[in-house]
Amino acid sequence: MVLRPALRILGIPIHDVTLNETLDRVAAWMTEGGAHQIATVNPEFVMAARRDPAFRAVLGNADLCLPDGVGITLAARYLGRPLRERVAGVDLVERLAARAAEEGWRLFLLGAAPGVAERAAEVLRSRNPGLIVAGTYAGSPRAEEEEEIVHRVREAGADILLVAYGAPAQDLWLARNLARTGARVGAGVGGAFDYIAGVVPRAPRWMRRVGLEWLYRLIRQPWRWRRQRVLPLYALLVLLERFRSRCNT
Ligand code: UDP
Repeated sequence: MVLRPALRILGIPIHDVTLNETLDRVAAWMTEGGAHQIATVNPEFVMAARRDPAFRAVLGNADLCLPDGVGITLAARYLGRPLRERVAGVDLVERLAARAAEEGWRLFLLGAAPGVAERAAEVLRSRNPGLIVAGTYAGSPRAEEEEEIVHRVREAGADILLVAYGAPAQDLWLARNLARTGARVGAGVGGAFDYIAGVVPRAPRWMRRVGLEWLYRLIRQPWRWRRQRVLPLYALLVLLERFRSRCNT
């Protein structure tokens, strides 16, 4: 079943789904068969996709573009299409693991620095007894490694493939390879394994609630300013988009 996006932000589709609905959708895909891709979209994705047609096409074809990042939910509200929930990649991974333990879905954790996916798998297993992590592997998104990684995931018999190579690499990787891995659902999850493994601390709950997670990440990882410097332009373009849509109505 194809889920229609609630809106487009600078041309990128965004779905209005809650975390619970996302898990139910995954469950439906498990019985439906085929390969389905999830992207966790934040404003940096939107800005990168403006310059990169391949990334734009991948997001355009993804089965679910989750509103990760307060910049997405704010823009949606500003554009007159408020979303019900922000769905962050790390929350998706944690809740998917809990549901997978109940349903018997087999997870594969691909990406992050060596050892991080293994540690994240241990944490997820200890929190969710019965969870099957069919495999973990750091690897890299380089083309030379693709065949080997696809083989590993396929051999592991994974149902759900979580890829942490950062955007756009993880999403392009999934678009190229998900169907070949045999997994029925694939999601690009950015820094989720780093958080779960405890390698990078997550912003305190109050900061997340008031929409300041991005600021916490910037303070902890100052190199992020490079990525975040596109945000003022993003805000301006969203402003113009509203202006344009008003002119057209
Ligand atoms: N990463 C990787 N290989 C690469 C580039 C990135 O394994 O070639 C990993 C990195 O270690 C991190 C994740 O990809 O675990 C990206 O996390 P980031 O915080 O940049 O993603 P975001 O949450 O901002 O989308």
